[in-house]
Amino acid sequence: MVSLSQAEEILQRVYGYPRFRRGQKEVIQRILHHQDVLGIMPTGGGKSICYQIPALLWDGITIVISPLISLMKDQVDACTQLGIPASYLNSTLSWQEQEERLADLRARKTKLLYIAPERLESESFLSLLQSVPVSLLTVDEAHCISQWGHDFRPSYLKISKLLNSLTTRPTVVALTATATEQVRQDILDHLQIPAEHLEFTSFRRTNLSFSVLHGVDRKEYLLRFLREHPKQSGIIYCATRKEVESVSSYLNDHHFSVGKYHAGLSDMERSSVQEKFSYDQIQVMVATNAFGMGIDKSNVRYVIHYQMPRNIENYYQEAGRAGRDGEESECILLYQPQDVFTQSFLIENSELSEERKKWELQKLQAMKNYAHTQVCLQQQILRYFGEKTEDTCGKCENCLRSTHSQKEEITSTAQMIFSCIRRMREKYGLSLVSKVLVGSRSKRVLEFQFDKLTTYGILQDWKEKEVLRLCQQLVGDGYIEVVPNSSGFPISKLTPKAWLVLKGELDVYRYVPKDEERLVEEMSTPREQLFETLRKLRLIISMREKVPPFVIFPDSTLKEMTRYVPTDEASMRQIKGMGEKRFERFGEEFLREIKRFLEKQPLEKVTNNSTSKNVSSKEDLSKPKSPPSHLVTYEMYQAGQTLDQITHERNLSLSTVQEHLIRADQEGYSIDWKPFISTDHKELIEQVTKQADTTKLRAIKEALPEEISYFEIKAYFAMLAQQKLEASS
Ligand code: ADP
Repeated sequence: MVSLSQAEEILQRVYGYPRFRRGQKEVIQRILHHQDVLGIMPTGGGKSICYQIPALLWDGITIVISPLISLMKDQVDACTQLGIPASYLNSTLSWQEQEERLADLRARKTKLLYIAPERLESESFLSLLQSVPVSLLTVDEAHCISQWGHDFRPSYLKISKLLNSLTTRPTVVALTATATEQVRQDILDHLQIPAEHLEFTSFRRTNLSFSVLHGVDRKEYLLRFLREHPKQSGIIYCATRKEVESVSSYLNDHHFSVGKYHAGLSDMERSSVQEKFSYDQIQVMVATNAFGMGIDKSNVRYVIHYQMPRNIENYYQEAGRAGRDGEESECILLYQPQDVFTQSFLIENSELSEERKKWELQKLQAMKNYAHTQVCLQQQILRYFGEKTEDTCGKCENCLRSTHSQKEEITSTAQMIFSCIRRMREKYGLSLVSKVLVGSRSKRVLEFQFDKLTTYGILQDWKEKEVLRLCQQLVGDGYIEVVPNSSGFPISKLTPKAWLVLKGELDVYRYVPKDEERLVEEMSTPREQLFETLRKLRLIISMREKVPPFVIFPDSTLKEMTRYVPTDEASMRQIKGMGEKRFERFGEEFLREIKRFLEKQPLEKVTNNSTSKNVSSKEDLSKPKSPPSHLVTYEMYQAGQTLDQITHERNLSLSTVQEHLIRADQEGYSIDWKPFISTDHKELIEQVTKQADTTKLRAIKEALPEEISYFEIKAYFAMLAQQKLEASS
């Protein structure tokens, strides 16, 4: 019998990986013992290796049933690059091509054959399989067997027929990233895999950081995010085709070249845009959930959900398309309460049976809970999938909140909002509530005579958008509920928790970020420049070889090269992901490119005495160290830009930019404050400060005319401190 150490040898020699990932070893071990196995592993967990390595070790043929025609070609290309004799059969091939491939199979020139499940309907194909030794049958995306899965494929039910028709039953390995109890059981039953042969790998994806953003202006957010992540690949998922059209044209209008993908486009349009995305010619794809089943791109750095999906299974699968190469990646859900309403409306009005509708609504509720939870987001997902875990990820928005935010008490503001909702008889949506609170003169407000309410204009110093955002946060925290009225429009109602607040029995807090925004500019370090150079070379090779760039090398391998800067064969061979075949084909080219780069730009090597394959890379090259945001503002200001210009260029609010200058001053950076304070105002502030005998900002602000801003007062104090310092030195 073949041993695990032989499998390890292949992992290192062919794939260039030093060790198996969690779960891979267990699945392979069972296969090598000729035991059928169901392997449940998260997306990106490395399922392919689980059957490819046994395929290489065994004499017979491995059949891989995969529902994703578009993925097959990429998978076979990836095998070919590694020197694995693989092939596929599906409807995209001509009759002649199919015949040639079948001939190769009969001649045993093929070790791995990928087929679509529909092929199992063909009697001639089934009888051909009788004449070749099939040693392993792989059922990829095995959840397609289950009617409870999100992607049931009736042809998958033919697999048991295939198994019965073969004279010798091959070993069966079923693989999936969907792990709910029902789906699991269906797979085991249908393929007759003993329950104890289930190998479950935690769904934890340690390289993903999750966040849920409530009530942000979504389009504005996307613009900002794309500006901040200029060279990264990402997917933006929208719920409908219409939304995909609107978001993609909005981004294109703002000079971002993004692709769009949905089922309403022609086959040709879809495959062309998908290819461009695979080849890194388009960085960002705006898509419905129709996009993704067929992509295998490993360097997707972020997945943003513009709308909330209807359940956690879909969410985790879509979000999980980020970071398949193991590099740090982000998964962001832009949550709006209306999304819950839209999804429940779609479920209610679907053709599903009543039982199924109830089930789908329960799953929607779990998704909603995810969006509102204060606990670790990764943990919440894992628990949903049945993992009993207490570990927090330490990097999701909720985990970080405690370190990066400050708690602010907002009980009285919340009370104002709640009593306004009550006075509007809990019959209207949050946007109208916000309008009333800020004292808007809009037609609807006047029509309903809401300007007569005592709560009208009670938050007049606020912007309507800010109030709406706060209202949505209060929904998120369970004080307000958004539910459809009898005509189907979302209306806001108070929950028992809000009543406690109104009675003064409960305080309300919110978290406000200490540093409201992240840095816009990414400083380009020499290592990043090398990474870019290698990426370009990879693109050129991928065009030449007609395969997507990540098939040549995943980003993680390029990052390793950037870190260890190999300049000779021996060190290049040590790079993680550099298998024998890959070195033979591309090693020299990459070595040349690195040397050329070093001639222009010397780079310190990371010498660790040991090789990269044995060392886990601690330095995170994906996240360059950037100067703190307030210092970027400071530099821009010192370089002569006005606050307005900085606000505009950095897409920040004026108050944030002003705060940046104050902070820089406090840290000892010199600023000339005079231009910010008019002589009249200076005198007034001086007077009030003396009279009130206080330096408390709020007291001073309240005693001054309204037009004098907090910033002016702070600038005044900063200037005073400066003068004192100068006098004493
Ligand atoms: P899945 O099918 O589970 O989503 P893949 O088989 O496509 O995942 O693998 C995802 C990525 O992980 C690929 O780039 C693959 O080369 C890489 N990978 C797989 N196994 C290992 C390993 N043991 N060490 C390092 N990288 C691995």
